[in-house]
Amino acid sequence: MKKYLRPEIAQMSGYAPGEQPKIANLCKLNTNENPFPPSPGLAKALAEFDCSSLRRYPDPTADALRDELAALNGVARENIIAGNGSDDILTMIFRAFTAPDRPMACPEPTYSLYPVLAAMQNAPVKRIPLRPHTFSLPENFLEQARGANLLAMARPNAPTGNTFPMEEMRRICAGFDGMVLIDEAYADFADDNCIGLLREFENVIISRTFSKSYSLAGLRFGYAVSSPEVIENMMKLKDSYNVDALTQRLAMAAARDSGYMRGNCAETIRLRKQLAEALTGMGFETVPSCSNFIFCAPPDRNGHRCFEELRKQAVIVRYFDAPSTREYVRITVGTEEEMKRLVATLAEIYGK
Ligand SMILES: *Cc1c(COP(=O)(O)O)cnc(C)c1O
Repeated sequence: MKKYLRPEIAQMSGYAPGEQPKIANLCKLNTNENPFPPSPGLAKALAEFDCSSLRRYPDPTADALRDELAALNGVARENIIAGNGSDDILTMIFRAFTAPDRPMACPEPTYSLYPVLAAMQNAPVKRIPLRPHTFSLPENFLEQARGANLLAMARPNAPTGNTFPMEEMRRICAGFDGMVLIDEAYADFADDNCIGLLREFENVIISRTFSKSYSLAGLRFGYAVSSPEVIENMMKLKDSYNVDALTQRLAMAAARDSGYMRGNCAETIRLRKQLAEALTGMGFETVPSCSNFIFCAPPDRNGHRCFEELRKQAVIVRYFDAPSTREYVRITVGTEEEMKRLVATLAEIYGK
């Protein structure tokens, strides 16, 4: 079989998702899932769902849902494409804008799926190191991105949680000779978002997901907002029925109840501030977060040890074994109770 397989696929390593362990008394803070349940409006829509409608194929372009999302973002239906999670959206973008002669650039560290998607396209990857400790953009970021066809940025960034200044984003969109993907998976936990940049620039695509702020990681729904021309071309690259009928109905109910989501985000932000203070008090270095997690270095700057010691107590956080991330762990902001348990366990480990 080996000789038939594209060599770049044989050589690449696939995306490594965070673990979903089956342990008793688990405190799961490793994949940025929302600790609060999805909206009551969604539960009602699920209870009332007409199962016989599943005989039929779903609307291939999910137009009713696109209209709802368009209204929510102050754009038109033509500016929106729906996806099976935002990972599906990212796949379409990489299919459209990366190739062996069309490289992708991204900050380092960032969402580890981007280089995997580039590898599937056999597209070169240019990693641009963020500044140590602050994980802010280096002075010459734009110069370093030059030559790439797609610039993939998560804002707020993952796994570091910090955001990048809007003025920097504007400068990047204006100066980069290629498409700028702004992955806003965590924008609902931040003070601002980049939707406004779509009116100023033609080379911007914004992706969103219902997995984090809407508490719907298991449902699989995400979408992109861009110019009608970009959306039209992404439509050619998607799976024919990429968003199933049940998801279209339930995502619609969740979108109509976005006030409920905002309330949950406000509570997460409150707990995030508390957690940051507790961590700092124990001698951790924390990166200022605009997301639903905190990237932090323990006092001994040994991220792997922190991960292992917490794991012994069934508290699961995320550790990324790479030069730029190994001093840190990423901790999802959970419920108040979960945060108390986390802090108490850390206090034991570090003798504070
Ligand atoms: C979680 C996450 C996603 C993926 O979201 P799905 O919609 O669940 O596929 C995309 N980008 C970033 C930066 C994320 O952290």
